[in-house]
Amino acid sequence: MYPADTIVAPATPPGRGAVAIIRLSGPRAIAIAHALWHSLAPNPAPRELRLGEIRDPSTGATLDRAMCAIFPAPRSLTGEDVAELHCHGGVYLVRRILALAADAGARIAEPGEFTRRAYLNGRIDLTAAEAIADLVEARGEAALTQAIAQLGGALADRVEGLREKVIAIRAHLEAEIDFSEEDLSLPSRAVIAADIESLAADIRLLRDSFVRGRLTREGARAAIIGKPNVGKSSILNLLLGADRAIVTPIPGTTRDVIEDSISLGPWPLVLADTAGIREGRDEVERLGIARTRISAAEADMLIAVFDSSRAFDSDDADLISATRDRPGVALLNKRDLPQTLYGAELRQHGLTLPILDFSAVTAIGLNHLRDELSRTIEAMAGDGAPDATIAISRERHRAALAQAGEALDSARAAAIASMPPEIVAVDIALATEALGSITGTISSEDILDAIFRQFCIGK
Ligand code: GDP
Repeated sequence: MYPADTIVAPATPPGRGAVAIIRLSGPRAIAIAHALWHSLAPNPAPRELRLGEIRDPSTGATLDRAMCAIFPAPRSLTGEDVAELHCHGGVYLVRRILALAADAGARIAEPGEFTRRAYLNGRIDLTAAEAIADLVEARGEAALTQAIAQLGGALADRVEGLREKVIAIRAHLEAEIDFSEEDLSLPSRAVIAADIESLAADIRLLRDSFVRGRLTREGARAAIIGKPNVGKSSILNLLLGADRAIVTPIPGTTRDVIEDSISLGPWPLVLADTAGIREGRDEVERLGIARTRISAAEADMLIAVFDSSRAFDSDDADLISATRDRPGVALLNKRDLPQTLYGAELRQHGLTLPILDFSAVTAIGLNHLRDELSRTIEAMAGDGAPDATIAISRERHRAALAQAGEALDSARAAAIASMPPEIVAVDIALATEALGSITGTISSEDILDAIFRQFCIGK
């Protein structure tokens, strides 16, 4: 058990609402709840919501009519005693009840502390904890599907499956170490090396699902870039279908990066409108331009905007060089006006992105733009629909899988080189730990269990 004091926090967002939930967890959670809340009927059984009153213990004054539910350990969210007060959603009321809970001995919880306790008490693994965060953050259907699958254990099961296979290999090696004098029929090194190789391939496959998983979870980021007044804000507004950014005819007024997201089929696309790429004249504009460069560098793809009604200039040349080797699409905007700049000229200056005729005023090219953006995301995500298979979505998972893969590669090399089993086992142990770090379950007991289960040595 996690040595714990009792924590309290609102489980609902701050602000006014029909109901606010205040959650307590820890050894004194139930006692503190009962010190503040008084049932109007017999006390509720565990996990039963009952109506009662919240009273200030020092004055006996009634503050609210509220429901309470208690969840005794270990069958609770955190694995500890938990109590929930469902009060009316008033800003002052919630603050007042929190203060009473604190006076009664609870500590205001740190962010994420309930989930952290749930993990430390073995109620959930790390991927489930991450899935809870992803579920709350989900911006689209694909992100939701991925998060709920992960919460249900899809990723944990896959990683555990891989880890068990690594442990099985280690069990063979441990048997070689422990029982080298005895006449056991153990798999040959060639067989072990082949097992390691096929496992490493499975791990690489899961590792490579990172791009797709991340694009599903966070969305792809596109930066709309171009010199001032080409129509970046107008294009952003058109894509968002709302007046999100301020459009003005004065060059250089979009000084901050503005972000919002749209759905392209299952994919969220985060759009950033940036200050124009051009040497800034004043301090504020220079800051905006620095942000443009950062935002363009951080983006997964670029929407490079050119003004078709004006002649090619050095700003356009700068823009072309900023798009070099980057995925995205170029828009020849303002095609509702008489045309001065043509796609062929942009090509002559080295532009390689697909070029679309566009008008932010008449919406010419909008559907083509959406299609082109979807295609670009799909090309980045690789094969498979976003929810086709289990995907990892966090750098932490990717790094752990990469580490496990490297350890297996080196174990395989050692196995082929007929190194002593102890040497091979070291790398295998590293791979086990790396995989275990994903779900947060690492234990050498696993290895003992696997040895006895697999070999039935009976000693
Ligand atoms: P930004 O500085 O690149 O963000 O450009 P804005 O979106 O603020 O647009 C600058 C000016 O160009 C505004 O007056 C817009 O109304 C106008 N504009 C933008 N796109 C088009 C277009 O496709 N056609 C025409 N005729 N005007 C446009």
